[in-house]
Amino acid sequence: MDSPNLTVAASAEVGGGGLRRSATLICAPIMADSVAKMVVEMGRAKAAGADLVEIRLDHLKVFDSSGDVKTLIDQSPLPTLFTYRPKWEGGQYDGDEKSRLDVLQLAMELGADYIDVELQVAQEFIDSIHDKKPEKCKVIVSSHNYQETPSVEALGNLVATIQATGADIVKIATTALDITDVARIFQITVHSQVSNVPIIGLVMGERGLISRILCAKFGGYLTFGTIDSGAVSAPGQPTIKDILHLYNFRQIGPDTKVFGIIGKPVGHSKSPILHNEGFKSVGFNGVYVHLLVDDVANFLKTYSSADFAGFSVTIPHKEAALKCCDEVDPVAKSIGAINCIIRRPNDGKLYGLNTDYIGAISAIEDGLRGSLNSSHVTDSPLAGRLFVVIGAGGAGKALAYGAKQKGSRIVIANRTYERARELADTIGGEALSISDLDKFHPEDGMILANTTSIGMHPKVDETPISKHALRSYALVFDAVYTPKITRLLREAEESGAIVVSGSEMFIGQAYEQFERFTGLPAPKELFRKVVESSS
Ligand code: NAP
Repeated sequence: MDSPNLTVAASAEVGGGGLRRSATLICAPIMADSVAKMVVEMGRAKAAGADLVEIRLDHLKVFDSSGDVKTLIDQSPLPTLFTYRPKWEGGQYDGDEKSRLDVLQLAMELGADYIDVELQVAQEFIDSIHDKKPEKCKVIVSSHNYQETPSVEALGNLVATIQATGADIVKIATTALDITDVARIFQITVHSQVSNVPIIGLVMGERGLISRILCAKFGGYLTFGTIDSGAVSAPGQPTIKDILHLYNFRQIGPDTKVFGIIGKPVGHSKSPILHNEGFKSVGFNGVYVHLLVDDVANFLKTYSSADFAGFSVTIPHKEAALKCCDEVDPVAKSIGAINCIIRRPNDGKLYGLNTDYIGAISAIEDGLRGSLNSSHVTDSPLAGRLFVVIGAGGAGKALAYGAKQKGSRIVIANRTYERARELADTIGGEALSISDLDKFHPEDGMILANTTSIGMHPKVDETPISKHALRSYALVFDAVYTPKITRLLREAEESGAIVVSGSEMFIGQAYEQFERFTGLPAPKELFRKVVESSS
C-alpha cells in the first residue's frame, strides 16, 4: 500500500460551489421514531454543540410528508440535512423509490439546507431537480461501503463518479478493517481540497475513529457526532461531547500535530483526556487520539509524515514498537520495551523511550517512605527488599528493571513461566509461575507489583493472588488504573499492606511524555486533578 502524503493537508481551504469555509462541521444524526421526539432531539443537538442536524426520515414510523417535513424544518434550531436511507444502502426505508425521492425533493423545496442522496440514484435525482433547486440547498451524494476501504485509486475513481453526477458535496463512508485504512481516506480528502470539492470522508468502525476526529485537519467537510453515547447511525461514531471536549475539535486545523496512544484494546485509556487537557492549558497546537492498532510496524510505516509527531504505546505493543524505532534510549533497551515514541523534527527518525518505570518506582518509594516516616532518607527504601513482579510484559520489565536498580532482590511471577524465567535470568532474579504465588512467602515485608491486566475494567472481580497470601507483603502496587482501587488493592489494604494505585504510575509516566511531546513543562497539578476527577 502507498504511504500517504499527509502533509499536503496543510494550508488548502475547502471551497467550491459557494461552500468556502474554514472549519469542519459537526452534524448530529437525529433518529427518533416520531416527529415530536425529533424536535426534542434537535434542541438537544444544539445544546450539545452540533452545527447541523441530519434528519433520518427512514427512522420515523409514520409521517405526513408535507406537514411533518415542514414542521421539522421550521422547528429545527440548526441547519437541516435530510436523509431518507433505503435498506439497500444500510438504512430503514423499504418502500418504493419514487415516493422516497419525492419526499427528498419536497424537503429541498421547503427549505432544507442539505439533501443526501445515494450514488445509485443520484444522477436521476439531480436531473429531475435541475431547475427547481434553491440556491441555498446543497446536494450531498453519498456512497457507503460496509465491507472495506478500497484502494486509493478506487476511491479516487469513486469521487470522480460522484462529482460527475453534479453533486455539491461528495460523501464517502467506508469500513476500517485496520487503522491504516483511514490513511487512504485522508489522502482523498486532502487531494479534494486542491480540486475544490467539499468532501465528507469517514471510515466506520472502532478502527476508523481517527477519520472522525482528524477530518478537521485533513480537509473533511463534516463529521458526525451523537448526542448520547451508543446511539449511533453508523458504527464508530463518537459523541459530540467527546468530539468537542475530549478531542478539542474546534482547535484542530491543518497545522495541528497529531499524537495518540497505540494499543489494543485502547478505548479505556485516559491518556487522551490528560494530554488534550494539558495541550489546551499550555496553548499547544496538538491533538491526542485513541489509536486501535493491530500491527504496530504497519501503523508506523503508514502514518510516517511529520504530522504524526509522537505516540504513547500500551498493551500489547510495547516490545514490538521498540523494534520499529530508529534509535532507543539505553534504559528502554535494557528493559526491552518502550511506552513512548517521538518523531524527531529534524530528520523524522523515531526515538523510543520508556517512562513507565520512573512513575511506578518513585510512587512505590514514596509509599514506603510515608510508612517509615523517613522522608529525609536518601537511600531507596527498596534496597535489600524482596520485590515480586507479577507479569513479564512491558510494564513487568520496567518495574523489575527499576526495582533492581534500587537494590531490590527480584522475583518474577508470570502466567507463561518461560517468560518469567527469561526475564529473571536477564535481570538476575528468581522465576515463578503465577499459580505458585499463593504458596510463596519466604519472608515478611515483601513488595508486590501486579503488572498484568488482571482486575482491569470490566473484569474487576479478578485478582492475581489470594487474599491470604497478601499477609507477607508490606506494600502492594497495581499497575491497573481502571478502576483506581482494584480488588487486589482492596484486599491488600484489608490485609494491612500499604497500597499504591496504578494512577500514580500513570501520572508519572504521562508527565515525562508530555514534556517530550511538547517541549514544555507538564501541568502537573492539572494532570493529578484530571486523573482524580475521571476515576
Ligand atoms: P504486555 O506487555 O502485553 O504484558 C502483559 C502481561 O500480563 C504478560 O506478562 C501476560 O502474561 C500477563 N497477562 C495478561 N493477561 C493475563 C491473564 N489473564 N492472566 C495472567 N496473566 C496475564 O502489557 P503491559 O504493557 O506490560 O501492560 C500490562 C498492564 O499494566 C495493563 O493492564 C496496563 O494497563 C498496565 N499499565 C499501567 C500503566 C500505568 O501507568 N498505570 C502503565 C503501563 C501499563 P503472558 O506472558 O503469560 O502472556
